[in-house]
This record gives sequence, structure tokens and C-alpha cells, in this order.
Amino acid sequence: MKNYYQKEVETASYEEIRQIQNEKIVKQVRYVYDNVPYYRNLMDKKGVSPDDIKSVDDIKKLPFLTKDDLREAYPYGLRGTDLKNCVRIQSTSGTTGKRVVAFYTQKDIDMWEECCARAIVAAGGTNEDVVQVCYGYGLFTGGPGLNGGSHKVGSLTLPMSSGNTDRQIQFMMDLDATILCCTPSYAAYIGESLAEKGYKPEDNKLKAGIFGAEPWTEEMRQGIEKSLGIKAYDIYGLTETSGPGVAFECEEQTGMHINEDHFYAEIIDPDTGEVLPEGSKGELVFTSLDKEGFPLLRYRTKDICILSRKKCSCGRTHVKMTKPLGRSDDMMIIRGVNVFPSQIEAVLLKEGYPPNYQIVVDRVNNSDTFDIYVECTPELFSDKVSEMQTQEKKLNLAMRSMLGIGPKIHLVAPKTIERSEGKAVRVIDKRKLH
Ligand code: ADP
Ligand code: ZN
Repeated sequence: MKNYYQKEVETASYEEIRQIQNEKIVKQVRYVYDNVPYYRNLMDKKGVSPDDIKSVDDIKKLPFLTKDDLREAYPYGLRGTDLKNCVRIQSTSGTTGKRVVAFYTQKDIDMWEECCARAIVAAGGTNEDVVQVCYGYGLFTGGPGLNGGSHKVGSLTLPMSSGNTDRQIQFMMDLDATILCCTPSYAAYIGESLAEKGYKPEDNKLKAGIFGAEPWTEEMRQGIEKSLGIKAYDIYGLTETSGPGVAFECEEQTGMHINEDHFYAEIIDPDTGEVLPEGSKGELVFTSLDKEGFPLLRYRTKDICILSRKKCSCGRTHVKMTKPLGRSDDMMIIRGVNVFPSQIEAVLLKEGYPPNYQIVVDRVNNSDTFDIYVECTPELFSDKVSEMQTQEKKLNLAMRSMLGIGPKIHLVAPKTIERSEGKAVRVIDKRKLH
């Protein structure tokens, strides 16, 4: 039997979802116009009034909101209601610059946690599960979001937060955790640590993992599934829209259903701002439909993905987004070629290397240098310089055929690249420091 947390809305017809969205958008735009002077100003400048927005088809008339706007309006400028109505503040991890703070009313928290509950149920979670949450707790949304979702489902929640891997493993084994929630890089590390301690994948009781907050590849998914003996589900979100749970994967594992009754998604050309038709690759833009504390209209996420309405075997009808192929600001331009860290990761995993690597880009004598430090598995590692050189050459060729340019590969000994307990740091672009 298929399980849903909120079956009616998760499996509603396209027309029904549209109707919900149309009703909500009219109210949300009016609410923002009346309560957020910063955005009202943007609308006035563009000559759009709330009366112009009668359905989601009219969203394209609204001005965009960017990360720069959020920084400019920091900390209170985009708040939708008095602080006395807000019960929580969360903040972005600051991966790409100054942090952004978001405000939540109790209604916003409930909506966010319900979105996370949908994700947990889609991963097979019930009130009989033990959900180990090792996303960071605190300002970062990962821990609080999944924690709240797990409570809503009625699962036994282990609020571990990130770090202290020995203790994570001890609790996982002693308390028979069945669902693991953390960043994919940390999940890979836990898998690795379990093996080191002599545990086999079948020794733990985990059945599923809900991993997100950073880009990860299909190859990495397969690695995690194998090392932990689980099914690994993707989850996506950002602080600005609430946190994890904006979109989540179902059993089909072919993209994440966006919770369309709360968030309206568009794909735009990042250069021109033009809305692109379904199936196009572009920048994801979200409009919140019923938020109070931090409502955002046409917020440009900088995440690059594709939307699809192809029928899903899980019965959910909400539009699906592909894994973000990277952030538009994650993309490196090296010697004139566009390079995403995710492409590099895909090559490494395909060639049998673990997802532990660091990319270092610099500029020397007006020319870009491009180095990748790649950790070997103990099997791949050798004391013989010639053997390592042969492997480096092979990897260089594989990279060259994927990227169009060849990096300098440095194979390093197992366990020499620092592990992350939260979001992994993959790129060091020294050009930005000059
Ligand atoms: P920061 O921008 O500081 O990292 P957040 O902690 O709010 O802020 O993280 C949100 C961002 O994390 C998203 O915009 C996206 O780039 C990334 N992200 C979240 N979930 C995923 C996922 N499942 N796959 C890829 N990237 C993700
Ligand atoms: Zn589905």
C-alpha cells in the first residue's frame, strides 16, 4: 500500500493544484504588497499592482527577488509581519556569502514541518520508525526541519545534530535507528566509519536515508546505498523558502516532488530572466504561496535544474525537479570552460574513487591553474610512484573527456582529505582572493 502524509493534496489533480495555487497567490501578493515595503517598492517600480495578479499565470508580471535583495534588506527588510507574531529565526549556512535570516510564524513552522513529514513518509517512514537526525541543529535549517517532520509523523526522533561520528554510530546501533537524515557527504562518511569499525551494511537496522542540503550525484547515491544497505532519498530546500522539504524524492528516485500547494516553481534563463518551457534547464525561481513571516515572491535560487510533470508511479502529482545540477554561482569558469563540481564528482565515482576530493583553482601568470586532490581507497593506493602516475594519467583523461579541459590530478593517501559533518567544501578558488 502506498503511503502519503497528506494524501489528498499530494495526489490532487493538476487542475485542483492550480486552483489551490490561484486562490493562494492572490492573497499572498496582496499580503506582501501591504506588509513588505521593500517588495512593494519593487512592484511599484515595475508598475505592477496586486490587482494585476489573478492567477499563477500572472506571476511572470512580478519582479524578481535576488540574494542581493535579501542581503540589502538584512535583517528585517523582508519580514512579512511584526516580530511579535514570529516565533523563530533561522539562517542560511552562508555557503556563498553573507548569511540571510528568515522569520517564521507558528503557521510557517507547521507548514515547513509538514513538508518534511511528507518527505519522511515518502521514504517509507511511519510512527514505528526511529529517525536519526544528524543535520546540524541551530540556525541551520537541516536539523530543526527534519526534527519537526519526524515529530509530525510520530516517529521516535533522535536529535543527534552533526558531528561526533563515534557517538552517531553508537546510538544508531544501540537504538536501532531506521531512517538517517544528514548531508550526503556525512552519510558517506558514516558508511565509511561503520566499515572501519568492522560493521557490514546488514548489521544496522537502517532502511532509508534522507539526504540533501548540498549537491550529490547518482554515483554517490549508489555508493551510500551500498555502504549503509539502505535506499537513499534526496531532499531539497533553502532557508529563504523555509528549509529542507520544499521538494523531496519518492520511491521512484527520479527527481523531487515540489510541494506545489505551498511553493510555485518557475524555470528561467539566468541571463535574460525569461521564463522557460517545461523540460528546459535553467534557474529555479520560487514564489511562496502562504507564508507569513518571510514571504518571498519570485525568489531566484541560483540553483540550476529541470522541471518535469511526467506521471510518477508513486501517485504523487506535484511537479518534479531534477537534482540541482549545481548553483549558477558554483560554476567555475576555468580557462574559459564552464565546470561544475558535480561533473568532477561523477567522473571520480565512475572511476572507482571515493567522493573525497578538493578542487583548487588559482591564477598564475594570467593563466588558470586547475588541480584536483583525490583521495585513494586503500586498494587503489600504492607506494610505487609509477603506479600512481599511471592512475593519475588515466583520471586526467577521463576528466578531460567530461569537462573539455584537463586538471592536474594529485592522488593522495586514504583519509587525508578532511571529512565534513555538514556541507562539504569542494572548491577552493584562490582567484577570488587575489
Ligand atoms: P546556503 O546558500 O548558505 O548553503 P542553505 O543552508 O539555505 O543556504 O542551503 C540552501 C542551498 O543548498 C540550496 O539553494 C541549494 O543550492 C543547496 N541544496 C539544498 N538541498 C540540495 C539538494 N538536495 N541537492 C543539491 N543542492 C541542494
Ligand atoms: Zn513520485
